[in-house]
Amino acid sequence: MRYYLGLDVGATNIRCLVVDDERRVVARDTQPTPQRTTASEFAVSAGRAVDATLSTGGLGPGDIAAVGIGSFGPIDTTAGTITETPNLEADVTGIPLRETVARRFPKSVPTTLLNDADAGVVAEHELGGDDENVVYLTLSSGIGAGAVVDGSLLQGRAGNAAEVGHLMLQSESDRECGCGASGHWEAFASGENIPEYARDIAAKDDIRTDLPLGEENLSAGAVFDRYGDDPLATELVDRVGTWNAIGVANLAHAFAPDRVAIGGALARHNPTLVFEPLARSFTDHLLVQPPEIHLTNFGDDVVALGAIEHAVTNLD
Ligand SMILES: [Zn+2]
Repeated sequence: MRYYLGLDVGATNIRCLVVDDERRVVARDTQPTPQRTTASEFAVSAGRAVDATLSTGGLGPGDIAAVGIGSFGPIDTTAGTITETPNLEADVTGIPLRETVARRFPKSVPTTLLNDADAGVVAEHELGGDDENVVYLTLSSGIGAGAVVDGSLLQGRAGNAAEVGHLMLQSESDRECGCGASGHWEAFASGENIPEYARDIAAKDDIRTDLPLGEENLSAGAVFDRYGDDPLATELVDRVGTWNAIGVANLAHAFAPDRVAIGGALARHNPTLVFEPLARSFTDHLLVQPPEIHLTNFGDDVVALGAIEHAVTNLD
């Protein structure tokens, strides 16, 4: 039996799993992503998730045939690093992720690094259907996408193709994105920025609200929970739905997909308030034939599974 290990390095959690030849999950571990850390400490904690997963499955490094890592970006696939961390509490640069993980395995085990949304689209393309043109969009702490066009994964320079969270949606807006620029898709609709967007709308448009806007740890989920009974929460969900619909229409115009699969905690935990509004209205902004659109069927495992498929493809 051959085993493969997949690692999903997200801004909130680091998820690791091992699958067998039949792609059955035989071991898994999830650890919170360190938020205030250094580059080397960050990489070590990813390594710790790997160790814990192997130990849960009663496996050793020599049992693993290939390792695939999917990580939040921006990354550098040539250097094997996370280059910046716009969605962590601390700004860290040059995280040596691939080397730190690869050192845990025999030299003969290939270890690959992909942008997490690229890993997501590989899972959708290899395991989710027969389409040759697929986009995977993650709506989570940040926003990103991966695209398979004519059967090929678009990676681009340093692996950062389709970093769509930083597409400009509103040039006149002063809503600041995690990257420091303004008016980007993430500035309006990422989990990280939604509470601040709610504060902005309240200040500028004087909309009544009982939301605890002064609380520093106000979450996107807490705002969504008040949809329908709090005027500000309702306005915010409607605006986020519009931004997401415009964003998805941009993706359809850029990549002409047959299918758009959506993942990420924000979309998956709030299907009626995040997924359904954009699925209903993205065609309002579209000139081309609408793609099929659905939530990913691979849940929280989509990035790790796709990273494994990518690593296995490199084996053959
Ligand atoms: Zn940005």
